[in-house]
Amino acid sequence: MSDFDIAITGAGMAGASLAAALAPHRSVLLLEGEDQAGYHSTGRSAAFWDESYGGPGVQPLTSASFPALSEGGFLRPRGALHIAQSGQQQDVAAMLDAFADSPVRMEELDRGGIEERVPGIRAGWDHGVWEPDCRDIDVGSLHAHYLSASARAGATLQTRASLRQAQWSGDEWLIETAAGSFSAALLVNAAGAWADAVALASGVRRCGIRPFRRSIAQIRTRPAASADLPLILGLDGSFYFKPDAGGRLWLSPHDEVPSDPCDAAPEEIAIATAIARFEEVVDWTVETVERRWAGLRSFAPDRLPVIGRAPDNDAFFWFAGQGGFGIQTAPAAAALAAYLILGSGKMPDAIEPARYSPARFA
Ligand SMILES: Cc1cc2nc3c(=O)[nH]c(=O)nc-3n(C[C@H](O)[C@H](O)[C@H](O)COP(=O)(O)OP(=O)(O)OC[C@H]3O[C@@H](n4cnc5c(N)ncnc54)[C@H](O)[C@@H]3O)c2cc1C
Repeated sequence: MSDFDIAITGAGMAGASLAAALAPHRSVLLLEGEDQAGYHSTGRSAAFWDESYGGPGVQPLTSASFPALSEGGFLRPRGALHIAQSGQQQDVAAMLDAFADSPVRMEELDRGGIEERVPGIRAGWDHGVWEPDCRDIDVGSLHAHYLSASARAGATLQTRASLRQAQWSGDEWLIETAAGSFSAALLVNAAGAWADAVALASGVRRCGIRPFRRSIAQIRTRPAASADLPLILGLDGSFYFKPDAGGRLWLSPHDEVPSDPCDAAPEEIAIATAIARFEEVVDWTVETVERRWAGLRSFAPDRLPVIGRAPDNDAFFWFAGQGGFGIQTAPAAAALAAYLILGSGKMPDAIEPARYSPARFA
């Protein structure tokens, strides 16, 4: 049986980023149930970095992730435009208010400002908030970067190794997986939608992390979408869309359907709803739906990530509940988790660890 300092369950963005941060300092085993790392939520994201997304409690992690994402060349300029219909000015005021004390750059836009950025916008969309700093993220490259950095530093990635059970003996974990047994001094739970199931299989109290399905359609429109279009989000949370290569658009109805942990697939009704809402925003015609997919966004009850040692077992570390922001927060969240695990290193700026601690559910 191979022995490691740290075993991480799940090799999505969470597990891979943390493995890269820990591997230079400890022996690390990265356990992945699928035959391919990144198959679940990480491989299905909408790939944007937007500081307001996830709310003011998530924003410090998103903002603190910018330097690493930018220096690594993983970001491309995009800009985000949050829009509301006439009579919904209060949504604009609420958004500006929520981020008034944050470093997030936001500007209120009137109808003229919206028309300048969205040709073909229908009548009635009169209010907007412009976030100039929003970026696209190259998710595949970022995930690959973390996997290769952790491998270079000596971490072992074991795929097809679903954790079935973990037992704490008092000084080490005995971990049974589909690929054999392992032991480790610390067990990290980075299992995304399966985070509560992994806690249960390890005899640790669950945090109440629940998966919700989110769907996306890749469409072609007439006129074709300009590559310069910003990410456009309904301030009421009913849609978003952004351009993709070759005049395509990625469109989501911003659905949030409770789900069991699974290989999520989109329902026809979600795609139809997305298109119906899209056609109420711009006067373009949807010509084809080229591709559709869904993934799970997993949230703790207060919708903040869960990062820290389990209150009922110090040797179990939570790194879960990354919701809809696990890519854009990955560098800072991994730095925070590594700092808490190693007791050394650099804590990311402006982060309050207690806010994300699993102790808040104890
Ligand atoms: C449609 C959609 C759009 C999104 N858009 C964005 C966006 O624009 N920006 C952003 O920042 N975030 C976005 N997100 C959220 C982001 O994708 C997630 O927060 C992030 O991928 C979570 O990473 P993870 O590693 O926690 O989960 P996952 O990528 O799901 O990884 C968890 C891994 O754990 C493995 N696992 C589970 N159980 C076991 C077990 N028992 N043993 C071994 N392995 C196990 C799974 O196989 C899986 O590979 C989006 C999500 C969705 C679904």
